[in-house]
Amino acid sequence: MKVMAKFEIWFLILMVCGLWMVEAKYMVYNTSQGIVAGKLNVHLVPHTHDDVGWLKTVDQYYVGSNNSIQGACVENVLDSLIPALLADKNRKFIYVEQAFFQRWWRNQSPRMQNTVRQLVNSGQLEFINGGWCMHDEAATHYIDMIDQTTLGHNYIKQQFNVTPRIGWQIDPFGHSAVQAYLLGAEVGFDSLFFGRIDYQDREKRKAEKSLEVIWQGSKSLSSSTQIFAGAFPKNYEPPSGFYFEVNDNSAIPVQDDVNLFDYNVQERVNDFVAAALSQANITRSNHIMWTMGTDFKYQYAESWFKNMDKLIHYVNQDGRVNALYSSPSIYTDAKHALDESWPLKTDDYFPYADRINAYWTGYFTSRPALKLYVRMMSGYYLAARQLEFFKGRSDTGPTTELLADALAIAQHHDAVSGTSKQHVADDYSKRLFIGYKQAEDLVSNSLACMVESASASGCKNPQINFKQCPLLNISYCPPTEADLAPGKKLVVVVYNALGWKRTDVVRIPVVNKNVIVQDSNGKEIESQLLPIVKASIAIRNYYATAYVGESPTSSPKYWLAFTVTVPALGFSSYVITSGKQAVSVSIPQTFYKTDGSQSDAVEVGPGNLKLSYSANGGKFTQYFNKRNQVRSSLEQSFSYYSADDGSKDDRKDLQASGAYVFRPNGSFPIHPEGKVPVTIIRGSLLDEVHQNINSWIYQITRVYKEKEHIEVEFTVGPIPIDNGIGKELVTQIQTDIKSNKTFYTDSNGRDFIKRIRDYRADWNLQVNQPAAGNYYPINLGLFLKDNNNEFSVLVDRSVGGSSLVDGQLELMLHRRLLHDDGRGVGEALNETVCALGKCMGLTVQGKYYMRIDSLGEGAKWRRSFGQEIYSPLLLAFTEQDGDKFTKFQVPSFTGIDPSYSLPDNVAIITLQELEDHTVLLRLAHLYEVDEDKDLSTMASVELKRLFPKRKINKIKEMSLTANQERAEMEKKRIKWKAETPSDLRDVPRGGTVDPKKLVVELAPMEIRTFVIDLSQSLPAAESWKSHMSL
Ligand SMILES: [Zn+2]
Repeated sequence: MKVMAKFEIWFLILMVCGLWMVEAKYMVYNTSQGIVAGKLNVHLVPHTHDDVGWLKTVDQYYVGSNNSIQGACVENVLDSLIPALLADKNRKFIYVEQAFFQRWWRNQSPRMQNTVRQLVNSGQLEFINGGWCMHDEAATHYIDMIDQTTLGHNYIKQQFNVTPRIGWQIDPFGHSAVQAYLLGAEVGFDSLFFGRIDYQDREKRKAEKSLEVIWQGSKSLSSSTQIFAGAFPKNYEPPSGFYFEVNDNSAIPVQDDVNLFDYNVQERVNDFVAAALSQANITRSNHIMWTMGTDFKYQYAESWFKNMDKLIHYVNQDGRVNALYSSPSIYTDAKHALDESWPLKTDDYFPYADRINAYWTGYFTSRPALKLYVRMMSGYYLAARQLEFFKGRSDTGPTTELLADALAIAQHHDAVSGTSKQHVADDYSKRLFIGYKQAEDLVSNSLACMVESASASGCKNPQINFKQCPLLNISYCPPTEADLAPGKKLVVVVYNALGWKRTDVVRIPVVNKNVIVQDSNGKEIESQLLPIVKASIAIRNYYATAYVGESPTSSPKYWLAFTVTVPALGFSSYVITSGKQAVSVSIPQTFYKTDGSQSDAVEVGPGNLKLSYSANGGKFTQYFNKRNQVRSSLEQSFSYYSADDGSKDDRKDLQASGAYVFRPNGSFPIHPEGKVPVTIIRGSLLDEVHQNINSWIYQITRVYKEKEHIEVEFTVGPIPIDNGIGKELVTQIQTDIKSNKTFYTDSNGRDFIKRIRDYRADWNLQVNQPAAGNYYPINLGLFLKDNNNEFSVLVDRSVGGSSLVDGQLELMLHRRLLHDDGRGVGEALNETVCALGKCMGLTVQGKYYMRIDSLGEGAKWRRSFGQEIYSPLLLAFTEQDGDKFTKFQVPSFTGIDPSYSLPDNVAIITLQELEDHTVLLRLAHLYEVDEDKDLSTMASVELKRLFPKRKINKIKEMSLTANQERAEMEKKRIKWKAETPSDLRDVPRGGTVDPKKLVVELAPMEIRTFVIDLSQSLPAAESWKSHMSL
């Protein structure tokens, strides 16, 4: 009773106070606090994380449709943000994804745009990261990462004249070395922040206060590319209880109106201080960052800011810690001002597991067809921009802009990663296709201009109509499948986007065997006809219908393979006519698995490389290169991991295999079913070995006369799921290399990183997933070595790979899963394709390439051939009336001085005419330090010979994304101190370009970016004629 009485008295007092307070309702919160030395500074960083497609498409997220899937509208975020920032000049916000921002910006009134510009100028609104999207870091190629970041950075530069200075990769599922050094330091960023690192690594770093490090991602460029890198203690959300989204169930607003019930200022201040101290316990220095926001938040920005205003006001009144509106830039500057040394981190943060048995290594392979599409479009975009440059950029189009936009969006960490919902993956593909169609017009148009004499008049309406075949890989190519009536000629123009001359075997489907291939001088070219097998025709008919809506009318019978030789950055043309005499058709020779003796070996390979097959089992068993005498046993096989369905209730860690997570439940070798024929097709250019492994795996192994690697084409699918179990298909290639647990995988197709099985350099790894925990992302390839040889495998798209057994490399080629892995996507990764009245599991076709070299010789092949995989020869076709047609005015062309070639260790990764008609040029050194005895050296490129017949008026070296001059960037960029001093030798870099000599030097792994003002010393059309290489 006594207690009750006391309570009543208090209640009365409060009521009286409340009545008395009615007059003073309006509160002014003091939010002006800056950093206070000697106190724990809590940097409140308001942000929203807007996925450029995931559960909804990019446009659905922007306009806020399809909200039954996820209540998210980016337009609301940006609409509500501006008044909230204007309400108090101390409030700050960062914005990241330019794909969304530009959707909003272009709809704003000039007045609103002006207001926003002021917010940007005052620092209240800051663009960080600033790419079109927040790209993935595992399944992305470095050229795509550069392109998509360039797109965003240049948009920001154009609209606001600012350059982002902070990397913000808060959501991608693991972090790459290339991100740190190339898309971080070389872009000019002062720091890089992210949310996802391995749970074991995180625990150790929390204990050691080493979540924040100096990350040195490049062996070659070493200390010159150091960047401050901070992993968040938990994720990119606020500490629990400080989440203020307008409709959130868990929000605990700061209630400071004494007239109302539930006044909670002191509790909220106490909670704040407790959360701050707990984070301070695991963080060096007296600055901590709170990420105040998460996915698609700030739909009603005022609700967040109102609460943060109050927290800053009352927490600072309390005085135990100091709270302030901040940004990652302010936080970075504060850390730098301490002048401390930080732990040094090298290599990368792959693979990522968020808890035991939950390795996010499945997504390295998820949606393999989308991954190939993205890679094909990437190479095509590079070539299309070159051709646009040679023809001269037209102000009326077509351009590569739609493809640039689609490709940039596709780099998002739920796009190429394969972790979006199916309808969103379809949206990415649709955008790529639309972008491709526009670029295809540009390419056809440019090539037509370049081969026609009419081009001298400015080339508005070229007469020749070139057609291309994006589905050539599945033998669908209508222009080559026409029956070549006598008098008709099929002309093929072959474009080479590489900076050096190239000889390769191309193949096109044809209907008849009476064909002759000639070069543009009328000289007959050696060719070979290979029968197209039934399995290929079935795929072709089904997928041509599904992908381009065209039901093939004809049925090609043969692949016509012939050798082409194409100059650097140029084209050659070839003429195909129906001949009187048939080209010799390679006759398939079939043998079956026998019970015969072991000596029943069959050898294939028309050149130096010989592969032996044992007739007994039909597997290849021996690799032998006659030229260099490299020999190894070699055995390739398939197996699958059965996917864990996440239902095992005998364990606490329920975890299914899904779009993100690879969680195998047993591995099962795939034995060829019964009597499997091995069919060998021999010819003068190449031999093929066909193996129908089972009803859903078909494999063709190719050995070319002039090449010393093996090409393997696999066709996998539909993966059977009728037993209710998802499967993840892998191929294993076993050699006799004594690799001692060690293998090397690329980082975004650039540097190779040493991996040791069941080991992490940064902590003592507890192995709970011996397969999944040893998987790494592969974009270029992986290799093994011992004291004698090295064995390399290169890939055509991003996949997951590993070496789980010494001497063996493993690639995951396809996954079909029946359960969701509980990371938000809410769908099983069970890709199906519908056409011709039925739906089937996705069939994936692809290639990988392998080769064994003597130790020290492998890098040359990996780097040079790697460029050829990235930039396949571009083929364009036109049918000509044989009577009238003799040959093109310009049948062969090179864009560079015909007597020049880029050095073997340099590639052009961008050649693009910009809107203002200046030229963006990026040159990349292809080798790391100590990678190759001859090529890991300083290279030089002669720009005068790269742009013959043109005058270089002005050249400016730029940052990687070309949004600021390199020198300016170097001057501004913060230098950090690492606890472990890196070796003090000068990091080699190419010197300043002398405007007279115009020679660009490149040190190992260096990429240099230039904007060049060129003028024609000859009219454009004349200049390419004069570059005819023949
Ligand atoms: Zn995300």
